Amino acid sequence: MKTDVAIVGAGPAGLSAAVFLAQKGLGVTVLDEYFIPGGRLLGQLFENPQKPPGERLWIGRDIAGKLKEEACGSGVKILTGTSVWNIAPGRRLYLSGAVSGEMEAGALLLATGAAERAVPVPGWTLPGVMSVGAAQVFTNLHRVRPGKRVAVVGIDPLAISVAGELKKAGVEVVGIYLPPPGVLTGRLGMPPEVIGSLSRSADMSPGALLKAAAGIFGGRYRDLGARLCGLSTMKIWGIPLHLRRAVVRIEGEDSVERIVTAGVSHCGRQQEECSAIDVDAVCISGGLYPLAELASLAGCPLVDVPQLGGRVPLHGPAMETPRAGVFVAGNITGIEGAPVAMAQGTLAGAGIWSYLAKAGKAGEKELELAASRLERAREEAPIKFFQEAPEGRKKISLLWAGRKQNPEGGVPDGPQSYSVPL
Ligand SMILES: Cc1cc2nc3c(=O)[nH]c(=O)nc-3n(C[C@H](O)[C@H](O)[C@H](O)COP(=O)(O)OP(=O)(O)OC[C@H]3O[C@@H](n4cnc5c(N)ncnc54)[C@H](O)[C@@H]3O)c2cc1C
Repeated sequence: MKTDVAIVGAGPAGLSAAVFLAQKGLGVTVLDEYFIPGGRLLGQLFENPQKPPGERLWIGRDIAGKLKEEACGSGVKILTGTSVWNIAPGRRLYLSGAVSGEMEAGALLLATGAAERAVPVPGWTLPGVMSVGAAQVFTNLHRVRPGKRVAVVGIDPLAISVAGELKKAGVEVVGIYLPPPGVLTGRLGMPPEVIGSLSRSADMSPGALLKAAAGIFGGRYRDLGARLCGLSTMKIWGIPLHLRRAVVRIEGEDSVERIVTAGVSHCGRQQEECSAIDVDAVCISGGLYPLAELASLAGCPLVDVPQLGGRVPLHGPAMETPRAGVFVAGNITGIEGAPVAMAQGTLAGAGIWSYLAKAGKAGEKELELAASRLERAREEAPIKFFQEAPEGRKKISLLWAGRKQNPEGGVPDGPQSYSVPL
């Protein structure tokens, strides 16, 4: 099989790039291992209070449907149920699943998205315990409530967003709690760190007081915030947000029946256990990391940037990697929301078009336009997963610029990983 452009991942980044490229007349094939195109968009349903009324609701499933229609209408071939399990030099892709065999591409876009980090909680193998991502897909895509009374473990922008989505779906959310403090949960169980992460969701908060509190205590006063938040329990969308209480055990005979919580000191030490709370499901969140394995297989150098969520492929301003004809877009380059992924997809589309069609000045113009749209999408993003992301992106640009100026020094070509001193 041959195609002008192969795109791995039919999420918002991959589909947006596909639409752009097909409308420029290129033959585009999108490959996705899931059976419906849309990626993580499929599970998203939230309100953006920064938008004017009438435009506030973000229904990911509908946006994914529109993107798919636009792509198919422009001639894009979407192969679902098809995994890409290897990439060899010359942009040769190895496929398995609904379509198997090999595919050769003139250019390749990797838009494989992100994955959830697991956070172990004693009792987490009981039926009824799931990740927040799974709860989101249950609720918003398949319209099945994960339980009647649910506890959310892990306090971060995604966990808070999913708790709100569960409540909207009619689930009683008993609270959002810290994970058990300890070596396995590290910063995720430390109140000051968690308060820092909470400040990233401040824009989503419907309460002016909580918005202000998150803004004030999210910065250098987060230690003080960690002490003060032990005095009372805040609420977000009417859901108790327990910044000083952790779920230390999940109990039940054959499935989840209750959680046992314990107090946590302002510096993250476990205190006395409290009485058990009856629940029938528990949703756990440990944060997200970029899925960059395919980029590594394709020979792209990976750079460890904690401010972007983990290892990301080194890339330039047009989303190009040091491997000729290999581009990246979306959460593979760092954890951000879907509107940003869509804008990155269009930018990568412009980069690929410039590369394949030698589009010259017209290509530069498209790149400029797409880059300014990406900047705007970042400014307007309702969820900022990593507050220090701009710093992380700056590091990537510096490394990229250094590599261009001195190809022999700095970051060499190849699939090795590098830690960036930050
Ligand atoms: C669990 C979870 C929940 C999220 N919830 C939200 C939210 O509520 N709001 C928000 O703004 N952001 C959320 N995000 C962030 C989300 O990733 C972005 O909003 C956006 O979807 C990223 O777009 P993307 O195109 O980069 O990747 P994705 O949307 O993740 O799409 C990537 C696609 O690549 C496919 N894929 C990966 N590897 C392969 C392979 N080897 N072969 C074939 N196909 C492959 C996957 O099946 C997937 O469909 C969430 C992320 C996760 C992981």
